[in-house]
Amino acid sequence: MGTATHAIQFAPPATVNGKINLVGLSRPEIITALKDYSLPGFRAKQLWHWIYHHGVIHFEQMNNLSKDVRYLLDQHFVISRPSVSRSLHSTDNTRKWLLKMVDGQEIESVYIPEEDRGTLCVSSQVGCTLTCKFCHTGTQRLVRNLSTAEIVGQVLNARDQLGEWPSPQDGRLLSNIVMMGMGEPLYNYDNVAKALTIVMDGEGISLSRRRITLSTAGVVPMIERCGAELNVNLAISLHAVHNELRDYLVPINKKYPIEDLLQACRNYPGASNARRITFEYVMLKDVNDSTAEAKELVRLIRGIPAKVNLIPFNPWPGAPFERSSDESIRKFSQIVLDAGYASPIRTPRGEDIMAACGQLKSDSIRQRREQQVVSAIAAAINQS
Ligand code: SAH
Repeated sequence: MGTATHAIQFAPPATVNGKINLVGLSRPEIITALKDYSLPGFRAKQLWHWIYHHGVIHFEQMNNLSKDVRYLLDQHFVISRPSVSRSLHSTDNTRKWLLKMVDGQEIESVYIPEEDRGTLCVSSQVGCTLTCKFCHTGTQRLVRNLSTAEIVGQVLNARDQLGEWPSPQDGRLLSNIVMMGMGEPLYNYDNVAKALTIVMDGEGISLSRRRITLSTAGVVPMIERCGAELNVNLAISLHAVHNELRDYLVPINKKYPIEDLLQACRNYPGASNARRITFEYVMLKDVNDSTAEAKELVRLIRGIPAKVNLIPFNPWPGAPFERSSDESIRKFSQIVLDAGYASPIRTPRGEDIMAACGQLKSDSIRQRREQQVVSAIAAAINQS
């Protein structure tokens, strides 16, 4: 399966300028860290509330702690998130943030407001090893896992940007999370699981697992663990109904073919009509969009409580595919609907800021490459 196992497991340590970053630590870890400075365990509860309910970043704002405690904390700890190096606002109000991490790497997260919800699309890795043929992120070479702090930090940053502190109970701007940004979340399971546990904690950000969706291209052995431990909503990037085509479009299929993937879906705990598994299916003109394929799709997923999310292909420079016509998308969708499955067509969001599905790729890399070209031309001119 080639590159898919090459993910560098490294994620930066949880320190910033020699101080421990409290963001991304579990409650027991915070208690242990505080003990080293003779601070009692109940302080962890207070800190948690300040960090994840109030969104504060300075200890001096924690007005139920004494001056001495605040000073001590400030000496040894930080509350840090990745810094925003670029912020883009689409005409459809989608927002994209380019976030810089302590080692200089950059990732993107995207906020998509809708009438009844606001969804944050969160990244799990810098780049991606899956090399799905239609995805721009997969063409980015450098890959490393994000730390728990960097994953949680994306949620904190979005809340900062939306001005949504303290965490409201109802009517939230940020009400849903989809692990559908850059990377394969199940290749960075430990950090993703820990981050989602923090995000779901009832005394902090407090998002219910029903409002969190994890999308995977099909790391079959991890799907079961995800179901048992997190039991968030599951989305599967299916994109093809025959192994031959899926091997090509989504190369991880060579390792975990369609039958195994669907079996893992059938076993996913809590899959019911109220909590359907989402199958994502990118519509590629004359590649996977025939009515025969729509019929095969509904045959394959029979018996699985599911909905099929049709994603019109979002083009990127140099992409070897075209978006299916509206007519073939409509026909495909109708067949799925007639078989009794909801079949929403995902309206591309944030296309003008390259924030739509599969378009995420760090701008810095693009800029660096442009800079390399400029330098190469300059060198060539100098030599001639
Ligand atoms: N690695 C995970 C998480 C990424 S989710 C996964 O594969 O599920 C991003 C979703 O957008 C996936 O369904 C992906 O297949 C889809 N996608 C990627 N490139 C796209 C493009 N150019 N147009 C439309 N959808 C795309």
